[in-house]
Amino acid sequence: MAEIVAIANQKGGVGKTTTSINLAVALAAFDYETLLIDFDPQSNATSGLGVDITKNNKNIYDVLCGKAPAESAIHQTSVEWLDIIPTSHNLAGAEIELVSEFSRESVLKRSLEKVKGMYKFIIIDCPPSLGLLTINALNASNSVLTPVQCEFYAMEGLAYFMNTVEKIRQALNPGLKIDGGVITMYDSRINLANQVRGEIGKYYGEKLYKTVIPRNVRLAEAPSFGQPIFIYDPSSRGALAYKELTLEFLERRGVDTSVHKKSDLYVTEEAGELEYDLGG
Ligand code: ATP
Ligand code: MG
Repeated sequence: MAEIVAIANQKGGVGKTTTSINLAVALAAFDYETLLIDFDPQSNATSGLGVDITKNNKNIYDVLCGKAPAESAIHQTSVEWLDIIPTSHNLAGAEIELVSEFSRESVLKRSLEKVKGMYKFIIIDCPPSLGLLTINALNASNSVLTPVQCEFYAMEGLAYFMNTVEKIRQALNPGLKIDGGVITMYDSRINLANQVRGEIGKYYGEKLYKTVIPRNVRLAEAPSFGQPIFIYDPSSRGALAYKELTLEFLERRGVDTSVHKKSDLYVTEEAGELEYDLGG
């Protein structure tokens, strides 16, 4: 059975999608069958992996509406062992449409029952809100991983978010684990960043990932080429950091990563069906 991991924080632009894509790709590169679910109508994870949603493909909106089973919305990516369920702009309306649905906060959970056995990890890239979509994602998940940007307002939003996670755990999903927090877009030259990092550390304690994702322009450029960082620039600081993060993620799950540590994380595009649109 797959472990379902929600990458969530209601704050916008903190690195949820960047973390979802690159964690999912790295897990796949370490030979774990992985499914990435783009659960945000903005479709950044879908386009960041070069998947074209204008094609008449089934997507997570069709799944939520009951128009398609989850299996039929799975697409191969060009990374071996990595599949994706893409999103649709229609998903923005799903929050309203779901309101009248029977046990509306469990629709995603029920939809994923059948595909859980096909993967080792299912990563859900959540939208920047605490609406019904995020609630569905947290209800369907075994654990939640929260990217936190090192900036002044980070702490306020974080306490509020974790409160909501706690409420969902109590009311809906008692098995939901806090996997932890990961600091993103860190710039050690900024004094405030060090201070905020300290605060986040106090808040999460042991659950804060030791790996810190630095601010790295290559990470910001990669999505516009529809490529994960491991293809766009495998030797960049961003790629090395996401490889480290993935190793730490696996170690937390009791995996002996000594084999993975030795090998470079080298992802080729030839592996799967090439669905990439490299923009020219
Ligand atoms: P949203 O809440 O809108 O879904 P998000 O939390 O998913 O946003 P991302 O889309 O991953 O955040 O990142 C926001 C922006 O910052 C993007 O343009 C992304 O390319 C860029 N970015 C993410 N991580 C880094 C980093 N470590 N260094 C530099 N730029 C980054
Ligand atoms: Mg996003």
